[in-house]
Amino acid sequence: MDLEAIQTLEQQSATLDPSPEDRLKATEAVVSQAEAFLSDLHQSPVFNRSDSEGAGLNDTPVRESGYELETVLSLFKSQMLESGLNPASPRHFGYIPGSGLFHSALADYLAAVSNRYSGIYAASPGAVRCEHLVLKWMADFLGYPSTMAGDLTSGGSVATLSAVVTARDAMGIRAKDVERSVIYMTEHTHHCVEKAIRIAGLSESIIRFVDIDDTLRMRADHLADRVRADKGEGLNPFLLIATAGTTNTGSVDPLMDLHTIARDFGLWFHVDGAYGGAFALCEPGKKALAGIELSDSVVMDPHKGLFLPFGTGAVLVRDGIKLHGPHRYEADYMQDTSALARPDMISPAELSPELSRHFRGLRLWLPLMLCGTAPFRAALEEKMLLARYFYQELSQIEGVELGPFPDLSIVIFRYIPKKGDPDGFNERLAHEIQNDGQVFLSSTMVNGSFVLRMAILSFRSHLKEVNQTISIIKDKIRQLDNCV
Ligand SMILES: *Cc1c(COP(=O)(O)O)cnc(C)c1O
Repeated sequence: MDLEAIQTLEQQSATLDPSPEDRLKATEAVVSQAEAFLSDLHQSPVFNRSDSEGAGLNDTPVRESGYELETVLSLFKSQMLESGLNPASPRHFGYIPGSGLFHSALADYLAAVSNRYSGIYAASPGAVRCEHLVLKWMADFLGYPSTMAGDLTSGGSVATLSAVVTARDAMGIRAKDVERSVIYMTEHTHHCVEKAIRIAGLSESIIRFVDIDDTLRMRADHLADRVRADKGEGLNPFLLIATAGTTNTGSVDPLMDLHTIARDFGLWFHVDGAYGGAFALCEPGKKALAGIELSDSVVMDPHKGLFLPFGTGAVLVRDGIKLHGPHRYEADYMQDTSALARPDMISPAELSPELSRHFRGLRLWLPLMLCGTAPFRAALEEKMLLARYFYQELSQIEGVELGPFPDLSIVIFRYIPKKGDPDGFNERLAHEIQNDGQVFLSSTMVNGSFVLRMAILSFRSHLKEVNQTISIIKDKIRQLDNCV
């Protein structure tokens, strides 16, 4: 055996394991860049159109030897931070704003450095307990019973997939049943639901888009009629998907009434609370979401309503064993771990499509432990009140047409110009506001009309930023309406 070769290879791989001095140097450089980013946040534009769009990365390719830390960090800044949207900005009011808790970043650092294996109880009982604890905390504020089980996922889409698969199996839908099985939703249901249905092998089932009322919520009476008619035709209605805060307009479907219909007709009642679920933490939110606690499964996105950095969704299932059903596994090479497993501490890997995974629980647990729940509760209530304030202020602007009074923290509106096509005008208005770069609003189509959306969700967005947005909207309307 050529021991010299082994030792040479050891030396060649040494930079993978930096010395304490090198670690400190790298950490200081990263921290100082992060600090610069955070202290610029209130000045820097929320949206950047850069010419290169990060293509400069290709000029510095991955190669045999590494680059200097300064080179790499400056590439990160110039190529990755200076084009597109800045979701960390307090002036981001488009889509569903993310924000990114600082304490979660510290938790991610610790999780990655210690690299605890959170997939399996026996591998890291403490990490798994931490995940169970934060899931239980969410279940408690939603009002779920202790029979629940849940999983922290990478986001709402994957959480939705788990929920759909769980509903499919719990309702006993086999391949031969798919064609006559019926799923109910509305045109405002998030597109990830249809994607999940497809991935779950249910694309040949029948999807009914239930009518919405003029507050853009699902019509319970229409749902009941549809289900009754479908049953009458010998079909198999099995799944109702309600949304607790649609992405489009923030409307909350009438959960209490929908639950009654689901119960009476024996449907699985799923609630998509990816955007809105976290509002159950505050009093007015709890009121708006009444009935969410009666669902069979619910999805919530901590990377939206609990302000975490992207990469954390959650699925909760009321009768936890049903989440276990499709996700359990046995494997010979895992026999040591199952011998150690505790029945009351089901491993995340048995509640999820994933096995090895990021230790996600820590990025929720650490901020909750350091800040307590009160600031989260306050921030969420503040967002709801800011949306109401925004609605009220916009109603004072002549020519502005508002959507429904906000259930949570999204307001839709458009301006009817003195002359000309309103859709074209509002499209220009949206682009003018976005290109200006100070605040970011997005747009959507509602009942065939082009509307603007103000979605308030970042913990950094406060009255000042909302007032700034209102005055920018007024200015842009004035400018555009005078030049038609
Ligand atoms: C964001 C969102 C989703 C999808 O969640 P991701 O985390 O982006 O995968 C699903 N439903 C609703 C209502 C959402 O707002």
